[in-house]
Amino acid sequence: MRIKFAILVCLPGLCFWPAGCQSEQSGGRRQAGSAGAATQMSVQNQNDRQELQKRLTPQQYSVACEGSTEAPFTGIYWDYHENGVYRCVVCGKELFRSDAKFDSGTGWPSFWAAVDKKNIREVKDASHGRVRTEIRCAHCDAHLGHVFPDGPQPTGLRYCVNSASLNFAPEKKP
Ligand SMILES: [Zn+2]
Repeated sequence: MRIKFAILVCLPGLCFWPAGCQSEQSGGRRQAGSAGAATQMSVQNQNDRQELQKRLTPQQYSVACEGSTEAPFTGIYWDYHENGVYRCVVCGKELFRSDAKFDSGTGWPSFWAAVDKKNIREVKDASHGRVRTEIRCAHCDAHLGHVFPDGPQPTGLRYCVNSASLNFAPEKKP
């Protein structure tokens, strides 16, 4: 299963996803209302968006690509305790491991560390009248959630993530 997945994501012809959410967020708004030179790119972005909309559920698309937030205690992973790795729902990048997951009581899957900090991009978010730190997949720019400085040791961080932005892959049994 894991080997199959690795082959899938490594085939050059199938590597359409890194443009995914990035094109939606950075390209879409800028190009709205403009014409001419941006037309070709807009078509490309539109194709990427359509591809993602086909591949993801409406909620996964809304959260990962449009930055919405799932209601607490509704996602599939907030109360999920299997051993394995949580990957980006858009591009498959490994983001969090079950051994860094903890029960934060918030109703969202929470982790005190990422697999690798380099896999997470932090963005200042001043929406809803307060400043927070949004977290996105560093590879495809999918919205994941937020990170807060009130988590448990050893990091003191709380990565508060939407289930809809994640795909769980169980640990391979020896
Ligand atoms: Zn990603």
